[in-house]
Amino acid sequence: MSATSYADAFAALYGRRPEGVWQAPGRVNLIGEHTDYNDGFVLPMALPSAARIAVARRDDDLVRVHSAQGDGGVTEFTIASLKPGSVPGWAAYPAGALWVLREEGHPLPGFDLHLDSDVPFGAGLSSSAALQCAVLLACDELLGLGIPRPTLARLAQRAENDYVGAPVGVMDQTASLCCTEGAALFLDTRDMAQRQVPLDLLAAGLRLLIVDTRVEHGHADGAYRNRREGCERSAALLGVRALRDVDADKLDEALAQLPDEELRRLTRHVVTENARVLRATELLTAGDFAALGRILTEGHASQRDDFAISCPQSDAAVELALAGGALGARQTGGGFGGCVIVLTEPDRIETIASTIKSHYAAQGWNAPACFTATPAAGARRLL
Ligand code: ADP
Ligand code: MG
Repeated sequence: MSATSYADAFAALYGRRPEGVWQAPGRVNLIGEHTDYNDGFVLPMALPSAARIAVARRDDDLVRVHSAQGDGGVTEFTIASLKPGSVPGWAAYPAGALWVLREEGHPLPGFDLHLDSDVPFGAGLSSSAALQCAVLLACDELLGLGIPRPTLARLAQRAENDYVGAPVGVMDQTASLCCTEGAALFLDTRDMAQRQVPLDLLAAGLRLLIVDTRVEHGHADGAYRNRREGCERSAALLGVRALRDVDADKLDEALAQLPDEELRRLTRHVVTENARVLRATELLTAGDFAALGRILTEGHASQRDDFAISCPQSDAAVELALAGGALGARQTGGGFGGCVIVLTEPDRIETIASTIKSHYAAQGWNAPACFTATPAAGARRLL
């Protein structure tokens, strides 16, 4: 769909033209899982799939939001009435973005907003961050606030933490706002230092296959919270600010100080995962994709065996991809399903995808969706 068609859909809904159209992409994380809330490192890239919003300011305090992926209705609330939990359902995401700006002291008008997103929901590709980042960038530009993008990412995180009530880290929002086309983003989530790492898969004769496992999970939120609390407990017991501060070379000494096996496993994942992000960034820069593939696969084993956030569907996709000759594969995102990424030569994709599909069918699992992606641009104004 073109930018004009989003504007036309807005006009059909609200009877006037929008002031602009913005888009913010979903993301896939190459490596660095559950490291962001441990002040650690991540290496995501933006996807071509994005949330697009057409927006116009209003003369009053009313906000009206509509989603092409919603139930067809328009949700209404006022800026003045916003407080955590005040808007339920999907509209909590745009409401949270407006709430955080108001909390920051920016006077806000009302808005009419139409959303249309092709980032699948709940697949670990960050449809929620894409939606909030699109709203925040649109407000920033329309109101001339001039908020730097890493700060907008922090605001989006706060909106999701404190308004929506999801204890997420800052990776998804930063990826959506700060990624550039043709590059992965190395991010240090402690100080938001970042570096664009060129990633030209096509020139390397490779592809990134993304397998959406379509696992329906009900317990992911609780498990996320539980892992996060475990990491915080380990950091406190070790006397460090965050697990990021545990030296990978002295990991065994640190583990020996922890009282139980569960905390040791959580800590080992985070510390080794941070080291893998640093190594993966070096390997990408050096163009050593074979070694990069091995790091991805090691990252999967760590999620499966130490952090315990994998599931049979993800493990099967990884194993079948490797058996089909992929350079590496791992589950990406928060865990318990979502997507698996596969680094592979293009002529192996068809066999890998069809083997995974038939295995899922034989197990009676939901049919997976397979697609390839190259690193896309971060959030921007379309119209
Ligand atoms: P993820 O971010 O991995 O896709 P989340 O559970 O964090 O999964 O966010 C998904 C939620 O975001 C949806 O359940 C919905 O409430 C909201 N959302 C995202 N995109 C849209 C959209 N286009 N229309 C309505 N709601 C959306
Ligand atoms: Mg999300």
